[in-house]
Amino acid sequence: MGNAETTIARTEYVISRTVYPLFFFGAIGAALLTIAKGWSLGAATGAIIGTTALTLILLEAIFPAKPEWRMTFRSFLRDAKYIAAAVATGAAASYVGAMLAIHVAGAGHSPVADLPLYVAVPLAILVFDLVQYWVHRWMHETSWPLGGFLWRVHAAHHLPDRVYVLMHPAAHPLNDLIVRQAINIGLIKLIGFNADAVFLFSVITAVGGLFSHFNLDVRAGWLNYLFTSTELHRFHHSADPAESGNYGVVTPFWDIVFGTFVYRPGILPARLGVDDPAAYPRSEQYWRVFLLPFRRTAQRVASGGATQGV
Ligand SMILES: [Zn+2]
Repeated sequence: MGNAETTIARTEYVISRTVYPLFFFGAIGAALLTIAKGWSLGAATGAIIGTTALTLILLEAIFPAKPEWRMTFRSFLRDAKYIAAAVATGAAASYVGAMLAIHVAGAGHSPVADLPLYVAVPLAILVFDLVQYWVHRWMHETSWPLGGFLWRVHAAHHLPDRVYVLMHPAAHPLNDLIVRQAINIGLIKLIGFNADAVFLFSVITAVGGLFSHFNLDVRAGWLNYLFTSTELHRFHHSADPAESGNYGVVTPFWDIVFGTFVYRPGILPARLGVDDPAAYPRSEQYWRVFLLPFRRTAQRVASGGATQGV
């Protein structure tokens, strides 16, 4: 290896071990500073998520975990359609969420709103992820008719055979409504956490979501037992149903409790996507993917589900 190659390899090594804790805890620090200083929560959310997303997109272009999982111009055009649909769905769901929040606020003060942040945020994460875990697992593993429908809704997010930062929003609009908006906005706002707790929770969820699809050989070590990051969620996208556990979004806590935790340090899945791509439309075919939940042909990704040990 030449000097330049050694320097690049060393840089990649350092980045793979530092980028996640640096940005994850950096985002939490920035959020806490925003609360302490009384800055705008909305502006801070945009700044934190925007800075993280841009940095990760740049880093995965330079140091991809697998070059064949890189974003291409063609896959970007595919993502743009899903992002546009997600923005429209998100706007509609936010309106409903705001109406619910106003209704709850009018109904009285929630005792949860008085909890200190260090209690409220872990509680929000555990409650949110428990509901999210079972809805997500139901989507993947249940053959009962509604389960099949939910899988065909969720399949859009598993059709891509490459996983990188910007494919994160690639999902069916109904999936956004059910998983990302109804649970997030509905549950967290209905319980009545205060604005600071919802803000911190949202920053942790959003930054974790960006890292979960990051195409860089992240090694988060012991943090994988506390938060769901790249190494865990990438296995959730494995085309091999025997290893595609990790249903948790923010924390692997419920995966560990219910036996679906898959952590294999230093190992990348051989293939990403669904186990039988021929049974599905290609993810670029937006309207065929959009209509998929209303057809009865597609296979489920898992039969029996992943029950991998640690
Ligand atoms: Zn899934």
